[in-house]
Amino acid sequence: MPDPAKTEVYLGLGANLADPRDQVLRAMQELAELLSDYRASPLYRTRPVGPVAQPDFINAVVCGYTTLAPDALLDHCQALERRHGRERTIHWGPRTLDVDILYYGNVHLNSARLQIPHPEALRRGFVMIPLLTLRPNGETPTGDPIDRSRYDDAGLELLA
Ligand code: ATP
Ligand code: CA
Ligand code: CA
Repeated sequence: MPDPAKTEVYLGLGANLADPRDQVLRAMQELAELLSDYRASPLYRTRPVGPVAQPDFINAVVCGYTTLAPDALLDHCQALERRHGRERTIHWGPRTLDVDILYYGNVHLNSARLQIPHPEALRRGFVMIPLLTLRPNGETPTGDPIDRSRYDDAGLELLA
């Protein structure tokens, strides 16, 4: 049974520089230490979206339970990004590691630093397709049904 003092969180991982598969796998090992009852989706190779031409991404979603408050969890995610050598240059540009908080229980939060659920989560196939593998009821943690047909599978390749 999960500890009631803990909250179930879902994190989105992405990388497209410096051996991105290895970046994501190493980040997963670190997150497995941070979160209890840790679970992870498979890895996916995804085509970049947005205005910047850049290499394909490796994406995955992980989940587990934490006693950390949302802000403290973001601190951990950003420290993890820094340990992976992330430099914040262009928004939506290439990066060695991106760790987003997708869901924090069913909490809704809007601060200068943190928006939860992640505002783009439902629009992104590279978030929802991996998330579905961790959500047998087919819903997001905030209760939105995940409609697989809404996402273009063409840009998303399941890695063995
Ligand atoms: P996107 O948020 O569209 O996926 P991004 O991940 O490339 O873009 P970043 O440059 O990594 O954006 O982050 C910019 C800022 O977003 C961070 O400094 C952080 O304060 C803020 N932020 C707001 N909500 C979240 C969230 N749920 N998870 C992570 N960062 C968030
Ligand atoms: Ca992101
Ligand atoms: Ca981010």
